[in-house]
Amino acid sequence: MTLLKIENLHAKVAETGPKILKGFSLTVNAGEVHAIMGPNGSGKSTLTKIVAGHPAYEVTDGTVEFEGNDLLELEADERARAGVFLAFQYPIEVPGVSNSSFLRESYNAICKEQGKEELDPLEFDDYVRERLKTVDMDPKFLDRSVNVGFSGGEKKRNEILQMAVLNPKLALLDETDSGLDIDALRTVAAGINTLQNEGNAVVLITHYQRLLNYVEPDFVHVMVDGKIVKSGGRELALELEERGYEWVLDDKGAA
Ligand code: ADP
Ligand code: MG
Ligand code: MG
Repeated sequence: MTLLKIENLHAKVAETGPKILKGFSLTVNAGEVHAIMGPNGSGKSTLTKIVAGHPAYEVTDGTVEFEGNDLLELEADERARAGVFLAFQYPIEVPGVSNSSFLRESYNAICKEQGKEELDPLEFDDYVRERLKTVDMDPKFLDRSVNVGFSGGEKKRNEILQMAVLNPKLALLDETDSGLDIDALRTVAAGINTLQNEGNAVVLITHYQRLLNYVEPDFVHVMVDGKIVKSGGRELALELEERGYEWVLDDKGAA
């Protein structure tokens, strides 16, 4: 079953006009793990923001479908309720809102949309504590304001906790591995692996192949200047690690 289908997506910065996505296409089926790699500035984070519905960008051509429906027509919160989860490179802080109430409201909004039973605070507490174990997080993080004063690594774990709680159909994770020490990286990877199943899909955006030692992708794509220029299996990630990105472009030029 196809979850996400992006075809020939072109997008620019809404106010000032620079083009960032220039014909990006990607199809993601249930059960798959995709990795998108690529040099700084190639448009990886912009892609996630556009899928999330960020108002700073304007789509000028192409389509994005989620389960066969036009995703671009939906508001950002509707996308989340449809089962799309996005973890940003720089997670937002929400002062004054506790992590647990934020998680519960998000969770219940999705349940409501999908016709599942909502959880009351006590039921949710049991559920979230069980999910905390997936990411090896201390329960004290439930009572703190969302991401406020969290270290870089704690924010990344918190993103995986959100994903574990919301159980999305599609998770798009933007550099969830960056800035993590090796233990945190293993935990984050274990969280992703635990949550991945035949009914959902994960798209990992990463600058380094390190994460891919722990989360094995079915497909690896190289994004350069706003589009995918090469796709392969996980061996492609190892080749990129060894040879950098230049050869992909040279290869392409020669082909
Ligand atoms: P990546 O995540 O692959 O490193 P980004 O998507 O963050 O790349 O950025 C791609 C390019 O688009 C960069 O050159 C960046 O400066 C530019 N860009 C992204 N967002 C904006 C914006 N709001 N205004 C101007 N330029 C932007
Ligand atoms: Mg699989
Ligand atoms: Mg980025």
